[in-house]
Amino acid sequence: MNDSDSEDSLPFPSSICHGCGAPPRYVKTATSMFILCPLKEDKYPRQPVMACDLFVTRDGKDREK
Ligand code: SF4
Repeated sequence: MNDSDSEDSLPFPSSICHGCGAPPRYVKTATSMFILCPLKEDKYPRQPVMACDLFVTRDGKDREK
C-alpha cells in the first residue's frame, strides 16, 4: 500500500489482501480500483478475499496455522 492510499479509499475494505505482505498492488482506472495479487495465478482474485492460502504477514512470514 502506498502512503497516499488512505484506508477509506481502498476497495473492498473487508478484504484480507490489505493486510497481506505479498504485497498487493492497487491498480486504478478512471472509474474503479482493483487489487492485483503478485502471488496468485489469477492476478485479480475475486474480492473481497476472506481467506487465502498464500497470505503472508507484512514481515514476510507465513501466517501461523
Ligand atoms: S496472497 Fe492472498 S491475501 Fe495476499 S494479496 Fe494475494 S490474494 Fe490477497
